Amino acid sequence: MQSILPSTCKFMAVVKANAYGHGDVQIAKELNRAGIFSFAVATLAEGVTLRKHGIKGDILILGYTHPKDIPSLKRYRLIQTVVDYSYAAMLEDIGEKIRVHVKVDTGMHRLGESYSHIDNLKAIFGCKHLLIEGIYTHLSAADSLRSSDVAYTRQQIGRFYDAINQISHSGYAIPRIHIQSSYGVLNYPELDCDYVRVGIALYGAYSHPQDQTKVSVDLLPVMAVKARVSAVKEIPAGDAVSYGRDYVASRPMKIAVVAIGYADGLPRNALDSQGQVLIHGHRAPIVGKICMDQLMIDVTDIPGVAQGDTVTIWGQDGTEQITAEQVAANSNTITNELVSRIGSRLERVYIRHKQAK
Ligand SMILES: *Cc1c(COP(=O)(O)O)cnc(C)c1O
Repeated sequence: MQSILPSTCKFMAVVKANAYGHGDVQIAKELNRAGIFSFAVATLAEGVTLRKHGIKGDILILGYTHPKDIPSLKRYRLIQTVVDYSYAAMLEDIGEKIRVHVKVDTGMHRLGESYSHIDNLKAIFGCKHLLIEGIYTHLSAADSLRSSDVAYTRQQIGRFYDAINQISHSGYAIPRIHIQSSYGVLNYPELDCDYVRVGIALYGAYSHPQDQTKVSVDLLPVMAVKARVSAVKEIPAGDAVSYGRDYVASRPMKIAVVAIGYADGLPRNALDSQGQVLIHGHRAPIVGKICMDQLMIDVTDIPGVAQGDTVTIWGQDGTEQITAEQVAANSNTITNELVSRIGSRLERVYIRHKQAK
């Protein structure tokens, strides 16, 4: 990702939601080792966790922090987003120096002071107690190359720079600027900002399978999800598998029970139609409903499956691969949601790969 960015642009690693399910402390530590010292989280608590585990560098909170929690910002050296003008006024009234980035709403209509309220934006910059270290916006359709979406994105970018110019003309110094998240980098690499806020691509994934982007990078998936076979059994034709009895064996079958379920973050609807897992380097279909802690697979045609064997839910097994993008798409969602909802009871095992070429 860095290789497609201007050399002056800093990489802000988005490690919110437990680093998209990967384990925020371990991921942030590894990024510190790799020379990354800018992080973004969604909440104060996420930032505090990183600090308590010794993560170094700037940590920006992208979301709202309640006034009662403002003292923790200083205590844990966190940077707060100014989510709108009234929030800035509240922070200013506290009367203590607070490090902030100002967010501008250019059309996403989530957080940020509106680009059209120039007087409010100038008033934020006039706040004596705010140490304004950054100004940013968020694009709502940067993942799409449809011409109407590209036009809308360009309009958002234009609104952002117009606002900055007007703030600058009022005599305020312009702090560091950032706009792009993962798809902003992949589809608008020419933007010359001070930071990019990269989440999903940092974890080696696209949001959807076969996403086309303007520049291509070799993304290597960071996460694989594996589970164990907990039992193997044979059932006669006509018997049903799992809750609801809606899967009925059309022939005598060998079924393997796998110790993973929807409480581990595998959506219950994931595998309704085309759900498969990998075992012994082969694809095996999921049969019957996914349960809270377990699911069943058809291993009739796969020899030698035994209790304790490893099953790959997504990842690589021999020459076969199932991607998180595909599992997400089968569940009608995006990879971002799938990985960030991986359950806390799944043990995270970390393997440091040799530097990819
Ligand atoms: C989550 C988030 C990001 C990261 O988005 P990805 O698409 O995962 O790269 C960037 N900026 C903001 C404001 C976010 O909320």
